[in-house]
Amino acid sequence: MLDTLYYKNPYIKEFTSKVISCQPGKNGYEVVLEDTAFYPEGGGQPGDTGSLNENIEVIDTKERDGRILHICKEAIAEGTVVTGKLDWQRRFRHMQQHTGEHILSGIIHQKYGYDNVGFHMGKDFVSVDFNGMLTPEQVAEIEECANEAVFSDQEIRVTYPSSEELKNLNYRSKKELTGQVRIVEVAGSDICACCGTHVKRTGEVGLIKVTRSEHYKGGIRLYLQIGWSALEDYAQKLAGVQKVSVLLSAKPELIGEAVERMQGIVADQKQEILLLKQQLMQYQIKELPEGERLAVFLKDDPSSLRPFCEQLLEKREMAVVLTGDDGAGYKFVLGKKDGVMQEETKQFREACAAKGGGKGNMIQGSASACSDKIIRFLEDEWGFVTVKDGK
Ligand SMILES: [Zn+2]
Repeated sequence: MLDTLYYKNPYIKEFTSKVISCQPGKNGYEVVLEDTAFYPEGGGQPGDTGSLNENIEVIDTKERDGRILHICKEAIAEGTVVTGKLDWQRRFRHMQQHTGEHILSGIIHQKYGYDNVGFHMGKDFVSVDFNGMLTPEQVAEIEECANEAVFSDQEIRVTYPSSEELKNLNYRSKKELTGQVRIVEVAGSDICACCGTHVKRTGEVGLIKVTRSEHYKGGIRLYLQIGWSALEDYAQKLAGVQKVSVLLSAKPELIGEAVERMQGIVADQKQEILLLKQQLMQYQIKELPEGERLAVFLKDDPSSLRPFCEQLLEKREMAVVLTGDDGAGYKFVLGKKDGVMQEETKQFREACAAKGGGKGNMIQGSASACSDKIIRFLEDEWGFVTVKDGK
């Protein structure tokens, strides 16, 4: 495995090889080649994608029982000589991200002794888990050190030390290793046993940015944007900031303050609307006809039903306040000065196809009967006067 093309030279984008076998598998045809530059999924790094002979798509690469399987959409005959072509853009990003993760993990290990206990290289972000906690200030300092390592363009060396040499080497490793160990050394930052693909010099990694962090199993999970992904992330976020900046007529660097101001205005307006609603309710109630039993259909949100019903009950024996329409149904609050009886609740539910309940002198819920039917019931059976739209 250690002399496959992607280890000999991780920068190979195109190569020629011969098909050894091709078997149908779960996700496509599993093609094995004599040699390959396609990196199989492993060590947190996704498998490569690309094509064989231009027209056969390689949708994933995996390793099974020491063989590298190119998962292809179509079968290829054994013995066929193929030109393999990697989706280089994608692979180079993986190399940037993988190397960036080494730099960051190495620095954290050196400074705080924490181990990288989980690594995920996804389409949208990279996340790394450490078995110890870091403060935001420490994270900021680590980020600065990591970028210093990038800007100073250090060499990254891959070596295969003997077991004797390994004994004297202080390196990070996620598990107990047997056989030949592959050591990846980022000068000044990290020495780690790793099977992934990496760039030659730290300068190629590009920006290493921690975008957020969270507690994770007694330690910390850091979310990262690295290299090309960091540039894209910056562009996407900048576009968002610029849009908000235009909408708020505020400079990009002052949008936080502008949003705070706007939240203050919204809160004031909410308060004002509440007061106006209360006043409106008083006017509406003044205009309503006399009568001990009154039903009112409101054109308002359901939250106003209860206070409206409470107001009506101050001078009446019984009241129903509803809002909605025949299509979507009605929300209602039904109240009675001396308490809504079980029997009345049952009658209303049956006659108006209503659901809901409550305690004391009010019940509330929704009714799916049409307004005509509700009105007929209230007027004919309970002797109500009905008012529509609160007028
Ligand atoms: Zn690595």
